[in-house]
Amino acid sequence: MKTIYSPKHSDHWLRFEYSGGQAKPCFEKPDRVEFVKREIQSRNLGEIILADEFSIDYILAVHDKSYISFLQECWAQWSSEMNPELDAIATVFDRQGFMSTSEPKSIEARLGKYSADLTAGLGPNSWNAIESSAHVALSGAQAVLAGEKSIFSLCRPAGHHASEALMAGYCYVNNAAVAAQYCLQAGCKKVAVLDIDYHHGNGTQSIFYDRPDVLVTSIHADPDREYPFFAGREHELGEGAGKGFNLNIPLALSSTSWTEYQQALHKSMDAISTYQPDILIVSLGVDTYENDPISHFKLNSNDFERIGKLLAELRLPSIFVFEGGYAVQEIGVNTVNVLQAFDSH
Ligand SMILES: [Zn+2]
Repeated sequence: MKTIYSPKHSDHWLRFEYSGGQAKPCFEKPDRVEFVKREIQSRNLGEIILADEFSIDYILAVHDKSYISFLQECWAQWSSEMNPELDAIATVFDRQGFMSTSEPKSIEARLGKYSADLTAGLGPNSWNAIESSAHVALSGAQAVLAGEKSIFSLCRPAGHHASEALMAGYCYVNNAAVAAQYCLQAGCKKVAVLDIDYHHGNGTQSIFYDRPDVLVTSIHADPDREYPFFAGREHELGEGAGKGFNLNIPLALSSTSWTEYQQALHKSMDAISTYQPDILIVSLGVDTYENDPISHFKLNSNDFERIGKLLAELRLPSIFVFEGGYAVQEIGVNTVNVLQAFDSH
């Protein structure tokens, strides 16, 4: 399996993240992708190709124009109005919605408008990385449409928590959604997104919630106990024309090992088989790993091979889009275990 990559991912890094009332060093850091890249090379998964450039229109096909302008402009405005030695991060939110239709002027208000919470900030060159990450996903879609059986888009930053006009959970542009929309514009009739990151793919769900042309299914930690908390429950089935095309499978945090996980995976795969998509997009997070520092599932490294082997049974052209995973020593092993097992079955 070939991998699409962009060195521009390292332009995005932040000084701190905030959780549990504390500023902490970031779990989401450039090393993550470099560990995966090294493992791909050492195990000869396949060629690593640099991403192509694409028109911004492919990002705007999924995201709100004023939100993307904000992502592009944020740092310049932050560094003139605020302290450029610190990350641009939201502190205020328009929860009552009085400003919902107008563009705020100050950068603090703009950050509040376009942030779902305090889990996504921006640095001096973050946009370079955000845009390149979407290009990595688009290049993957382009390759599969041109005949590759499967491809790995080594995206960073991740995308699945980003919705049409909100950044959240280390995510800014929803790479999987941009790739799905690209496939539809290229002539595919139906695309399935399977999100196997530990966290619910709330951004992807939100983007396609009222649409029947993208089936979104996510297996994730119970949102009663885990981020993103406000979405990811079984009763969220889609709405309008999209009703019946969203499938959430939340699992208990600390008691989920392979036994429970494989049942959920079979259920998602059954829904995908019934849907008969032209292309499968896998939002591949490996934070389901037992030693992940921010997660609680109990999958071991062998289980990631089992995931790859099972997904291969769908026999669909597949784009793997990289999402989360924070145990940096094992992130490469677990990711390549999925991909290599998929490739050899
Ligand atoms: Zn995650």
